[in-house]
Amino acid sequence: MIDVYGRTIEYLRISVTERCNLKCMYCDPDGENCIRQEERKLTPEQIEQITRSMARIGIKKVRVTGGEPLVRDDICDIVSRIAAIDGIQDVSMTTNGINLGKYAKDLKKAGLKRINISLDSLNEDRFKRITGGGVLQKTLNGIDKAIEAGLSPIKINTVLIKGVNDDEIDDFIELTKSKPLECRFIELMPIGDFGEKNSDKIVVNQDIISARPKLQYLEKTDKGAPAEYYKIPGYLGKVGFISPMSHKFCGDCNRIRLTSDGKIRPCLGNNGEIDIMDTLKNDPDSLDKLIEDIVYNKPGGHHFGEKYSSSRSMNRIGG
Ligand code: SAM
Repeated sequence: MIDVYGRTIEYLRISVTERCNLKCMYCDPDGENCIRQEERKLTPEQIEQITRSMARIGIKKVRVTGGEPLVRDDICDIVSRIAAIDGIQDVSMTTNGINLGKYAKDLKKAGLKRINISLDSLNEDRFKRITGGGVLQKTLNGIDKAIEAGLSPIKINTVLIKGVNDDEIDDFIELTKSKPLECRFIELMPIGDFGEKNSDKIVVNQDIISARPKLQYLEKTDKGAPAEYYKIPGYLGKVGFISPMSHKFCGDCNRIRLTSDGKIRPCLGNNGEIDIMDTLKNDPDSLDKLIEDIVYNKPGGHHFGEKYSSSRSMNRIGG
């Protein structure tokens, strides 16, 4: 559907859980969500019901995220319910890859088309430090299993932080030489304590591009997608840049978010959220109308760079 600013909104990101099996230094360093006992999460049936409403108002693409979606043992059921909905043309997932080796084949069977895997270091010790104890080999194995399962494209998401992992930029680019991967660098956002306090550690994507004349610009094919793509001639994969801090792309934003506790967050960088659980449970016939109103009134742009403080860390929003 078209929102109040004339943007076509057709992309829904669903956070299926707040829980995660990693404690990334810029996301949830205390592991508050790893140990969360009483989790608020939507059931597969509720996710299906909400997504059906979303499809009726024009949502065509769904990304399943979290927290870490692969800590839910009903994740394949969730994916197959979403994939079977009339009007949903594309189902994807964002994961840290730790459990992907176990699930890649079944996710593909369930209807998952493509996958984004977060990976902030190719060095075992550093990976452990950034993720609060994660094992790099598990994520690397998950990437290989995703390739084997035929998920495509496979995008690797790397948040660069000055003095932490910005010396690995070329190692990530080299990953695209022989594997069909899209390696994407994401600028650190002021979401969560670390991002809010470390704006001086943002690595500006344009500086990476300018220093690497070998990277050749690829014309944008999907206007709503935030990444700009480049390629090194002869390499199998691509290199992407997502620059929410240095280049605001809100004018082309086509997405809304559903949190795992049943709130719609129409903009990542705006704390406005609307709880839809009461309508879902007690007045389901009004759900389409409620969602339509929320989507129509999606804010015009994010508030990063305006002393913005996010009410939720990324793993509670659904990154
Ligand atoms: N657990 C899954 C994963 O690791 O991909 C999905 C959720 S995670 C919150 C989604 C993405 O958000 C990850 O790629 C992570 O790097 C990114 N992220 C979290 N906090 C961020 C921040 N302050 N700035 C930029 N990206 C952030």
